[in-house]
Amino acid sequence: METRISKHLELAEMIRSSTAKRLGISNMPTEAHINNMKIWAKYIFEPIRNHFGRPIYVSSGYRGRALNLVTKGASRTSQHSTGEAGDIDMDGTEITNAEIFEFIRQNLDFDQLIWEFGDDKNPDWVHVSYEATEGVFQRKEVLRGIKVNGEPKYIPYK
Ligand SMILES: [Zn+2]
Repeated sequence: METRISKHLELAEMIRSSTAKRLGISNMPTEAHINNMKIWAKYIFEPIRNHFGRPIYVSSGYRGRALNLVTKGASRTSQHSTGEAGDIDMDGTEITNAEIFEFIRQNLDFDQLIWEFGDDKNPDWVHVSYEATEGVFQRKEVLRGIKVNGEPKYIPYK
């Protein structure tokens, strides 16, 4: 089995999930989903990695259907279950999540980009997806996740 998604991204970084392990859920992707991850890596991850020139941390990548069902916000983030989305979290590094968000927003083609919670200065993490189906346009939808009475809600960004 292939263990590398792209030059700087290992399959392990995309599929690890403590939730899956805790619940005894398999999170192994299909070949088709691995191919989707490669496309995500080519158009999203590697351009970010190359721009900043240092490790980029994926906090949640692939979440197979079984895992996605038990995680919150499944419908909004279902592209995780096909290998077309990843969450990036740079907390504890010299790069902020806000910098990652702005770089993607201004420079990359993407399907959906989300400033996930946090505050006006920095999101808790950045969700970014790339539509892998050939011939389907990237929506370039930019959203912000907020909490309303403790419930997640997504609104247009600015
Ligand atoms: Zn996400």
